[in-house]
Amino acid sequence: MSARIKKIEEITKMMAKKEQIRNFGIIAHIDHGKTTLSDSLLAEAGLLSPTIAGQARALDYLEEEQKRGITIKSANISLLHELNGTPFLANLIDTPGHVDFTGHVTRALRVIDGAVVVVDAVEEVMVQTETVTRQALAERVKPVLFINKVDRLIRELKLDDRAVQEKFNRIIRDFNGLISLYGEKEFAGKWRVNPANGSVAFGSALHGWGFTIPQMQELGLKFGDIVAYYREENVEELRKLLPVHAAVLDMVVKHLPNPLEAQPYRIPKIWHGDLNGEVGKAMLECDEDGPTVICLNNVIVDPHAGIVSTGRVFSGTINEGDRVYLLTARKGYRVQQTSIYMGARRAIVKSIPAGNIAAMLGLELARAGETVVAEEFKDSVAPFEKIKYVSEPVVTVAVEPKHPRDLPKLVDLMQKLSIQDPNLVATINQETGEYLLSGMGELHLEISLKEIQSQIEVTVSPPIVVYRETVTSTSPPILGKSPNKHNRIWIVVEPLNEETINLIAEGEISEYQDRNERARILREKAGWDSQDARNLWAIDEHFNVVVDRTRGIQYLREVRDTIISGAKWACEAGPLAEEPMRGVKVNVVDCQLHEDPVHRGPAQIMPMTRRATWGAFLSAKPTLLEPIYKIQVSVPPDYIGVISSVLSQRRGQVLSVDQKGPLAFITGEIPVRESFGLANELRSKTSGRAFWQTQFSRWAEVPKSLLGEVIAEVRRRKGLKPEPPKPEEYIDTL
Ligand code: GDP
Repeated sequence: MSARIKKIEEITKMMAKKEQIRNFGIIAHIDHGKTTLSDSLLAEAGLLSPTIAGQARALDYLEEEQKRGITIKSANISLLHELNGTPFLANLIDTPGHVDFTGHVTRALRVIDGAVVVVDAVEEVMVQTETVTRQALAERVKPVLFINKVDRLIRELKLDDRAVQEKFNRIIRDFNGLISLYGEKEFAGKWRVNPANGSVAFGSALHGWGFTIPQMQELGLKFGDIVAYYREENVEELRKLLPVHAAVLDMVVKHLPNPLEAQPYRIPKIWHGDLNGEVGKAMLECDEDGPTVICLNNVIVDPHAGIVSTGRVFSGTINEGDRVYLLTARKGYRVQQTSIYMGARRAIVKSIPAGNIAAMLGLELARAGETVVAEEFKDSVAPFEKIKYVSEPVVTVAVEPKHPRDLPKLVDLMQKLSIQDPNLVATINQETGEYLLSGMGELHLEISLKEIQSQIEVTVSPPIVVYRETVTSTSPPILGKSPNKHNRIWIVVEPLNEETINLIAEGEISEYQDRNERARILREKAGWDSQDARNLWAIDEHFNVVVDRTRGIQYLREVRDTIISGAKWACEAGPLAEEPMRGVKVNVVDCQLHEDPVHRGPAQIMPMTRRATWGAFLSAKPTLLEPIYKIQVSVPPDYIGVISSVLSQRRGQVLSVDQKGPLAFITGEIPVRESFGLANELRSKTSGRAFWQTQFSRWAEVPKSLLGEVIAEVRRRKGLKPEPPKPEEYIDTL
């Protein structure tokens, strides 16, 4: 039997023993050593079984993975660790390195029960240490502490024993301060870390060594001995004696909860379904015989396997061939393959029980954060995180490869990114040939681009805000003639009411619905007259609709689809700045069509319709809509005034202030256009004390005083002349 197969068998056996599983993450302030620590855990414990000496193989494998550049990108790394003769399966789940995308961090935190918080011994507890610890505690994820870069205290700072001890004490005290401050009462006391019991580890991820106090005591070592290894330049010996993976994994196994312990108190916090129902009970008990419920933390595109969805099985058992249902995508699939992680590599197993991390193939529409359930429970399970498409991608950058030969790679990378991150959209502007990446904000894009930049050299345009075009009044009937002058159309454009927009957004009305049913809803819920309601022809993705108000027009049926295409074309990019129209009702009021089909083909009807729609649009008091963020800031109360003035200087405003304990929570609004550079300003004006998040909130009219400037700016960028066209340019006369 090969070592690998033996190993899989070993892991499969362990998957059934929930007491021997730990699902954890590593979180840290940027640069404190999260990546270095993850890598050294993988290198040392990734494939090594306590019983099979496979170091050479592990390294071979690592090399091969590194060539493909996916080691660090792995969704999960399963590590085998033995403690007092008992093997443990420690699943290290990838948490994003940056805290600004609360959505992502939350998704990752949702599937882990514990976290190793890495703190740089030189810099000590920093702002993001506070943020990530706070977020972990908010999800009832138990934190333990790893004090990293101790080598720098010894070699660079040359601190004596006492100074080192003082530094350690301060870090531990501050860290426990965070737990008391942000932990819920019933956990804060129990979760304080204590070096004496081994819930704090010390070491150097870079040099591969680390220890907990109990380990030192067992070996009869003192801190002074460690310093001696450095003095004698014998770090290799130190690493052999005190390998960092042993220190960290001992701490993980001893101090972080297993799924059986964690799920009873975590489920009520992270899932808002009925806890007394069949599904709720099974999740509280981590019951492998209950209904299958999986929360995905990661979706990647594997060059060979396609979409790989990784998540935690909270209840039930997932088997190859199972029928599952994706609650957000609203789609059912058959699971084509199930696998677990060995190191960072997947190994096929037929069945994965609750408490474990499963990888699944075949869930084409899966995205991170998705809730996957057994198909028969699709109507009775609440999702973990309701993802409504409220956060429209409102900021765009154009990306261009430095070397044209990298273009196919760029397209590929952008597509993968948009699959892996549901809030990113990759598009190609057919006219300019630009490769555009749209996301939720400046920082979101910056971080996403790092992934591209790590593989190819690219140039990136400054961030651009996305706008919408709309009308504020009703136009008169506007005539459009076809290029051959044989056909005529009259169009009236008016604003679509908010009620209708909401009905479309919520999926209550759509193009493909039964016509009478749709007409009824439009009449009853959005105040449409019955004639218009019955004759709604089309709805596009940006909430524009086409309505037929004509009567008894000859040949109209033959050109109906071409008229719709022409109107949609007009709406795709409006005349003001060639941004998409939003909330526009295009009414076809009259039409004259040539009797010969040859003279009323698409090349005649489409431009005619587009022209008349634009003419009507320009005659209906058009304007631009800009995206507005909702911003939530938490700061010490002294800074409320500062935040308020930063927001108002950027055309924003404070909506409410809420004081909870030592922090003030400010809710406000700010136009996306004014948000560039906000991070730096908030950071410097509050000395790094502010923590905030922004999220798309709504579209609002661009203030009159700015309108001309914004239109000119967008037009210039697109290579158009700065002034938008006059209505006359698109209005024909008889
Ligand atoms: P991350 O941003 O938290 O993932 O941090 P990285 O793991 O990328 O580390 C940031 C920098 O600190 C890198 O230059 C590492 O080589 C360095 N670093 C990480 N761990 C140690 C350590 O234990 N000692 C020293 N001297 N440098 C370290």
